[in-house]
Amino acid sequence: MNLSERDLAVIWHPYTQMKTAQPPIPIVRGEGTCVFDEDGKKYIDAVSSWWVNIHGHSHPYIAQKVAEQLTRLEHVIFAGFTHPGAVELAERLLAILPDNQKKAFYSDNGSTAIEVAIKMCLQYWHNKGEQRTKILAFKNAYHGDTFGAMSVSGRSAFTAAFDSLLFEVEFIDLPTDDNVDSLKSQISHLKSQLACFIFEPLVQGSAGMIMYEARHLETLMAHCKREGVLLIDDEVFTGFGRTGKPFACNHVQTQPDIMCFSKGLTGGTMAFGLTTCTQEIYNAFLSDDKMKTLFHGHSYTANPVACAASLASLDLFLDTATQQNIDKIVARHEAFAEKIKDHKRIATYRQTGTILAMEWETGNNTSYFSNLRDKLYHFFLDKGIILRPLGNIIYILPPYCITDAELDYIYAAIEQALDTI
Ligand SMILES: *Cc1c(COP(=O)(O)O)cnc(C)c1O
Repeated sequence: MNLSERDLAVIWHPYTQMKTAQPPIPIVRGEGTCVFDEDGKKYIDAVSSWWVNIHGHSHPYIAQKVAEQLTRLEHVIFAGFTHPGAVELAERLLAILPDNQKKAFYSDNGSTAIEVAIKMCLQYWHNKGEQRTKILAFKNAYHGDTFGAMSVSGRSAFTAAFDSLLFEVEFIDLPTDDNVDSLKSQISHLKSQLACFIFEPLVQGSAGMIMYEARHLETLMAHCKREGVLLIDDEVFTGFGRTGKPFACNHVQTQPDIMCFSKGLTGGTMAFGLTTCTQEIYNAFLSDDKMKTLFHGHSYTANPVACAASLASLDLFLDTATQQNIDKIVARHEAFAEKIKDHKRIATYRQTGTILAMEWETGNNTSYFSNLRDKLYHFFLDKGIILRPLGNIIYILPPYCITDAELDYIYAAIEQALDTI
């Protein structure tokens, strides 16, 4: 049996209907923006392996730092103990976040970073003796797959089997010029019950790279702040340069109370999660009463190897060459969008920083629409490009080290798809 066949005998894949799925492509090696299969076929990873990879695959500097850490200290319990990587990473990250972020809580992935944020907010009010138990979120939001994270995500096909078990959340529309005032009134109306507002800043990734304006986010954040509603900024996807600036919240003035990170945190090397918060939130848990403790923790909290990968990734991220690469991708995406925007197959396109999304015109032909995604997916795979359309939406979000030649190749393939599919 080859690797794909052995896989299908024993493995259940994420977000995959195993009955109809094609056999998985066996990847054995990665380098730069590319991964290579068993037969040596090369694929350009134009979606950064589900949005996690920022510096390219198997980066030698991250690999070296991880290897050194593994032979020094692989793991240690994080209740009652600490280690240099956890402290240094918190110090260095807090220094580049909005200056109200004062404490770091580590976990394992994006969903757990969200769970921690929600629990911090709910217990903040509980510890203060105030009845604020409702959470405000955007329609179509995606914050992860654990139950709390699912609850604050939009109700969709992803959640349908569990809807009756998810806690109640107040969902509002994304802000526009037309509705932003009415959203503010909705918030004011609910304010005494609202514990927090959780949002994906500027871009709703899983919803289909849906984007909204920073000035509207600023209006909503400032309004929540005035109304005493805590702000959870979910930077799991947008953190570490995706939107062109280090963090999406750098596009607004109002500072969030809590921030969540994962995906790019380790540069895409391994699972890790981080939730940061203000001194004010942290202080609400300080007490002689043990019941006010944040009773949350994971076996691998602050894993030293994950901290080492994150510190190495941060070194690379703060290198001026990386910011130049980000600026280059932003400019090249803009130029490409300009070139294809009037193509008859482009219904609409949008860009925030290094993320470029294009919606394919589908007319009213829904049967065509249903297999368009698979057609596009395989068209690009054949050309050695990993693009995973969300329905009829194609998006490119490459590792920042992508070369001009690789970008040219991807853009040319998209133009060819526009003309032939
Ligand atoms: C991916 C994602 C999550 C969940 O992270 P996982 O590590 O997949 O659990 C949460 N929020 C946003 C905005 C995401 O894109």
